[in-house]
Formats: sequence, structure tokens, C-alpha cells
Amino acid sequence: LSFDQMGIKDDLLRGIYGYGFEKPSAIQQRAVRPIIEGRDVIAQAQSGTGKTSMIALTVCQLVDTSTREVQALIVSPTRELASQTEKVILAIGSYINIQAHSCIGGKSVGEDIRQLEYGVHVVSGTPGRVCDMIKRRTLRTRAIKLLVLDESDEMLSRGFKDQIYDVYRYLPPELQVDWLTEKMRSNNFTVSAMHGDMPQKERD
Ligand code: AMP
Repeated sequence: LSFDQMGIKDDLLRGIYGYGFEKPSAIQQRAVRPIIEGRDVIAQAQSGTGKTSMIALTVCQLVDTSTREVQALIVSPTRELASQTEKVILAIGSYINIQAHSCIGGKSVGEDIRQLEYGVHVVSGTPGRVCDMIKRRTLRTRAIKLLVLDESDEMLSRGFKDQIYDVYRYLPPELQVDWLTEKMRSNNFTVSAMHGDMPQKERD
């Protein structure tokens, strides 16, 4: 499978090739298509196999840049991962004029507010700061159609469960699906990317 055969928009393909990718990695070949078709996906792979790029690619594909609203939210366990994901989105999405911002602990709240009020398509952040921005109503969740819980097992082991659940409860009801709510309540979730209704694939 090549990037050209994955239903990716032209300006995004330019960004992907421009970034130096020639061929999708294994996880990209398996996960991109179901996610952009609107299915829920749980993806597990070793680090360095193209997961961050897979997330960036699907986010860029799904966001409509003609409206300046947050449409994708990525929650990550560390500041480094959250800003790395933002960087890859901005790089791959350079030809679609995507606006992304990272909401991470330890950085200026004032800058988060400024960026979010200006309007971005994507927010990549850590649980505490994202939760804070949502509760202040600075981060508006109304138009979010894709939630990515990156390294969800790591987030649980770092004790972010309550914050993630808080964030989740503020999302549009279409994203609050029974199977995920159940997993969150049971303290046992391993979800890397989701939207829609049922998991497409689950591997433990
Ligand atoms: P990631 O897991 O997305 O952080 O990717 C790990 C490394 O592989 C990074 O340096 C990426 O830029 C690179 N990479 C990811 N996907 C591809 C691809 N399809 N082709 C070539 N390099 C890739």
C-alpha cells in the first residue's frame, strides 16, 4: 500500500512526501485508513514505528481548515511527546495551512489562551493543562471529532486517569461511546486513537 492509495488529500500528500516519507510504515498501512473512514481504532506498536506520524497524518486528513475550530484533540503523557506531535502535524500539514497548538504544563497559560482564542484546528497537550483549558472554556470542545489518547497505558500508570476522564466527559456526546466509557471506568484502557462507535481492532 502506498500513501497515494490511502485516500489522502493531495495537499497533505505533498506534505508527507515533502517531509521525506516515501512509503507508509506497517502501523500506518493498517491504522490510517480505518481512522480516516471514521472507525474507532486501538493501535499498539513499538516506539519508533511511525505512530506519532500516523496520528499526525490522520489528524491532518480529518481536519477541515476552512473553519477555525478545534476539531482534533490529542492527549499525551509527557510534554515532550505532546510538543513532538504538534511539530509533526505542523510539518506534514504545511500545505493545508493547519493551525495546531500544544497545551502543556509548565508553559505560559496566557499564550495558550491567546492561541486558542485566535483559533486553532488541533490541540496536542498533557492531561492537566488540557483539562484546565476546557474548564476555563478557552478550549471549546463543540467541534471536536477526533480524540487521540496517545500512550494511554503510560497515562494511566502516571495517575492521569481522573483528568483524562474529566476531559472525556466534556467532549461531544457522539465521542462518548459506551465501550470507551466502560474502559475508563474500569481503570483499564489502552486506546490510541478513537472516534465514532465501536473499536475496529483490539490487540492486547
Ligand atoms: P514516529 O514513531 O512517528 O515518531 O516515527 C519514528 C521515526 O520514523 C521518525 O523519525 C519519523 O520521522 C520516521 N518515520 C515515520 N513514518 C515514516 C515513514 N512512513 N517513512 C519514513 N520514515 C518514517
